[in-house]
Amino acid sequence: MGGGFGGLAAARGLARAPVDVTLVDRTNHHLFQPLLYQVATAGLSPAEIAYPIRRILRRQRNARVLLGEAVAIDLSARRVRLADGEVGYDHLILAAGASHSYFGKDEWETHAPGLKTLEDALEIRRRALVAFEAAEREEGAEARRQWLTFVVVGGGPTGVEMAGAFAEIARHTLARDFRRIDPRTARVLLVEAGPRVLPAYPAELGEKAKLQLEALGVQVWTGAPVTAVDGAGVGVGDHRVAARTVVWAAGVQASPLARSLGAPLDRAGRVRVEPALTVPGQPGVFVIGDLASLDQDGRPVPGVAPAALQMGAHAAANVVRALRGEPLAPFRYRDKGSLATIGRRSGVAVLGRLRLSGLLAWLAWLGIHVFFLIGFRNRFVVLFTWAWAYLTYDRSARLILGHGRQRQDSIRGIG
Ligand SMILES: Cc1cc2nc3c(=O)[nH]c(=O)nc-3n(C[C@H](O)[C@H](O)[C@H](O)COP(=O)(O)OP(=O)(O)OC[C@H]3O[C@@H](n4cnc5c(N)ncnc54)[C@H](O)[C@@H]3O)c2cc1C
Repeated sequence: MGGGFGGLAAARGLARAPVDVTLVDRTNHHLFQPLLYQVATAGLSPAEIAYPIRRILRRQRNARVLLGEAVAIDLSARRVRLADGEVGYDHLILAAGASHSYFGKDEWETHAPGLKTLEDALEIRRRALVAFEAAEREEGAEARRQWLTFVVVGGGPTGVEMAGAFAEIARHTLARDFRRIDPRTARVLLVEAGPRVLPAYPAELGEKAKLQLEALGVQVWTGAPVTAVDGAGVGVGDHRVAARTVVWAAGVQASPLARSLGAPLDRAGRVRVEPALTVPGQPGVFVIGDLASLDQDGRPVPGVAPAALQMGAHAAANVVRALRGEPLAPFRYRDKGSLATIGRRSGVAVLGRLRLSGLLAWLAWLGIHVFFLIGFRNRFVVLFTWAWAYLTYDRSARLILGHGRQRQDSIRGIG
């Protein structure tokens, strides 16, 4: 269930097994989420980071792909209830991922969309580009400043990458495209409640990331919890920041599907799985990827793509073990490192014992992301697009599409 990193790895891991695989996803594409911020900031187009699941599994003869939304799992009947039907199973591998959490303030979502799907990315792109258009037409200086203020909430890798890209758009990409406004005066603010950005990285890399962001013109506020979000801006501690574009990159919450298993969940709603990745008391039901909560050596296995890929392969191998009547093997996560990019040629990376920052980290980020992208055409097009963007500062996907999820940003018909 789910054709993300985990579900796809599981389906592929069963390619040679004597089983019939059914992969169900509510979208028809596998999405490379690590590059989603590039779509949100007009660097890449949707088709360059997504690939039809049906196409990926075309050659795997024991696999079929169904487009459908799972709404509940019936463990006793061994069926997954879909919004418009149901699917039976002998073994279930649940890989439905996670979405954003607004820490109980769901009403903030309208004003501060999170980044999880292609639709989210297109909506953020639309809002950011509309903000510059609206500022160009605005008469009042204060209202113009409000349109030209961009707030990113959350200083993890996604927040850092988004803030860096917004700054680059304002300082370089759009710098000469307007007549009345100077996009370089746009204010990009990254707000983090904790004491530093990139809390999962070593402290020195968090500090370097902050300096690199500041060099790009991003204002970084740490120890700054967001207390309010509305159509006119955000409250940060006792401060009020007037801003028309706010992006949420703060919390994560597991798919609500997890609840229907009736299994123990952690605070983010993830299923506390056994070491073999099974649901307690349900040896035929595996939960993997962002939906699974598992501690290893006293620390949680992180919600990252490599962990989901490894869990997917492991769950598939355990299904094969179960079919052979062998005991299930415990999962062990192999940490291959983490990378985040900041703007067009800097970043931070932890690769084993190696800690990189600046251009080297950015090159490592670029190489790894292109390598793991699915589809030769996508790799080729992304590399070309980045090379072009590097040379010209241009962002080729600067299209305003759709009418938005709410109309609060329309000034005199814009948006
Ligand atoms: C913006 C962003 C940037 C990221 N950057 C990085 C990074 O740089 N490096 C890194 O390692 N990780 C990164 N991650 C995290 C990484 O993408 C996740 O850890 C990984 O995608 C988890 O894989 P998964 O298979 O568990 O879930 P997902 O990849 O989210 O896949 C879940 C799938 O299930 C489907 N689905 C969900 N609910 C249902 C339902 N009810 N019915 C049917 N289908 C359903 C979805 O459509 C989706 O295809 C990033 C995540 C985001 C959002």
